Order: sequence, then structure tokens, then C-alpha cells
Amino acid sequence: MEDLFANCNLCPRKCGADRTAGKTGFCGMPGYPVVNLIKLHYGEEPIISGKNGSGTVFFEGCSLGCVFCQNYTISRGPTGHGTAMDKESLSSAYLKLQDQGANNINLVTPIHFAPAVADSVALAKSRGLNIPVAVNCSGYDLVRTLKLFDGLVDIYMPDMKYFSSSFSSEYSHASDYFSVCCSAIDEMVRQTGSIKLGEDGMLKKGVIVRHLILPGGLFDSKHVLDYLTSRYGNRIYISLMSQYTPMPSCTGKLAKRPSERSCSSLADYLASKGQVNAFIQEYDSSGKEMIPDFNA
Ligand code: SF4
Repeated sequence: MEDLFANCNLCPRKCGADRTAGKTGFCGMPGYPVVNLIKLHYGEEPIISGKNGSGTVFFEGCSLGCVFCQNYTISRGPTGHGTAMDKESLSSAYLKLQDQGANNINLVTPIHFAPAVADSVALAKSRGLNIPVAVNCSGYDLVRTLKLFDGLVDIYMPDMKYFSSSFSSEYSHASDYFSVCCSAIDEMVRQTGSIKLGEDGMLKKGVIVRHLILPGGLFDSKHVLDYLTSRYGNRIYISLMSQYTPMPSCTGKLAKRPSERSCSSLADYLASKGQVNAFIQEYDSSGKEMIPDFNA
């Protein structure tokens, strides 16, 4: 079978890097999964975290590379203290999280490792993994790569970060972000179907699209909400996040938080669209405390 890491075109950057030969592309990562942190995580939406927590695996690196990344300490290539994991060790980690009572397995930014991660999920399922598996990603994902997860993943939690190409170019060097993200979310919804909650109130299948409100991004956010509500409505959840925190490298418009007024007006705007499958993050819950401690 073709080694998809050998001429890497797993994401829209299409670097063509031979990651099996020590070369790296935009994401900066080798051709095997590197994990920074595995833990029960309680900071996701209530239908994901619940009381028991979400069994979260944080992968290093990212193929989008937003200038304001809230997880920048692990997303900008190898940290040097991550752990290389193969499908056997990853599948054992998922089973251990299941034994600890996790509501689900939550794979954070796994797409640049997709072939190996998909294999690890398949192996874990064959070894008794029976809780939902979620992929948590930037939305800058190719449909053909997402198809590697078809039948293995129950829940997708993509971002839809931008509508305008000027924002996506300036902040993520990805002028095609919106069109790529639209196709990706279509594929995710195709794979999972509409929202399905269990008797315990936890999400078993479906898509939660997250949108982080950016400072100065009110109109762009409205376009994102217009698109999501008109295309999917209550077949998906929309999670409106106000946790944006300026990272040390952020300057200009990005050096401050979005205003409380713009966050609350977007929440009202979303409600006015009839979107009841929604999560609105409390403005006061914003801040660095929402970001996992990757150095712990
Ligand atoms: S996954 Fe990494 S190496 Fe592969 S195309 Fe994307 S950025 Fe380039």
C-alpha cells in the first residue's frame, strides 16, 4: 500500500515532503505520530466532557499555523519533549482512557498524522474500544484525507475560523481556507450523519463546528454563522467561543481580546437564526486557564 507520508499531500499545503526520509513540510512533523499530552480533559463542550472527562490525546504540530494559535507551545512543530507513538501504543492509550471512564476518545489535531492515527483507531476497536471517537481539527482538511477516518470516527469537532480570504491569508497563510473548510465539513457531516445524543446526554455521533471570535472579526463571524445555519441548521452543533487570548507574539488588532459586547451580540445573532443546537462560551470563562498546561 502507498505510504502517504512518503510524498506528503495529506493537507492542502501539499508540500510533497518525504516524511519517511526525515524531510518535513509546513507542519514540521515527521512521518509518525508525536503526542504531547494524554489526559482526561474537562474543558470541552458539556456533551463531550461530561462529568467523567474526554479522553484527550494532544498531537504535536499543525498544518494550518494560525498566528494567534492558543496552543502554540505544541502546534509549531516538534517541542522536543513529545513522545513518538505507533499504532500499538496509541491504541493502548485509548483503551487505558476508556478504562479510566472517559466519555470518548478526543484526538486533537491528528490530521497531519491521519494514516497512522486511523490505523490506531481501527486496532483499538478490534481490541475492545467501544466509546465514541472524536477528531478535533482546524477545518483546513482535505476530503480525501478525512475519508481515511470513514467508519472509524463518530464525532468531528472542526473549526470554521474565517469566511474572508483576507483574514485567512493574513492570520493563517491560507487564502483558500473557507472553501476547503466548507468541503471538509460537508464530508464530516456525510460520515457522521445528524446529531445523536445518548441516554446519558453525551454526544455519540455528529459534528460540532467551533468558531473562535477574533478581535475585530465581528462581520466575518456573522458570515460564518450565516453559512453554517443556512447549510446545516440544527443538524450540527455550533460552538461560539469567546476564549481568544492574545499570545505573546500577537500584535496590532490581535493584541487584545474581542469585546464582551461583540461576543454577546454574536450570541444573540446566532439565536436569531433559530440555532438551538449551540454552545455559547461565557465571556468570563475566557483566558489562559482554558489552555491545557502542556508543560505539566
Ligand atoms: S501534512 Fe504537513 S507535510 Fe503533509 S502536506 Fe500538510 S503541511 Fe505538508
